[in-house]
Amino acid sequence: MSVDVPSQGETTCVCGRVWDLTLHQEIVPDRSYINCRCGRILVSWNSVRTWTAELVHDLPAIQRGERG
Ligand SMILES: [Zn+2]
Repeated sequence: MSVDVPSQGETTCVCGRVWDLTLHQEIVPDRSYINCRCGRILVSWNSVRTWTAELVHDLPAIQRGERG
């Protein structure tokens, strides 16, 4: 599974959550991707650069509790 590397800044997942992605020049070998809480990969990488994602807008409770 792979995704296109997004640009830095806010990105909206397909589930509706909004994440603030930041690119770092640090080596973090034990982490190569970040998942949204819905399970979708927000960003993945295979270089020396690494990303962090901060949740800036979660889903409303009514959507988190949906029963399908
Ligand atoms: Zn999501």
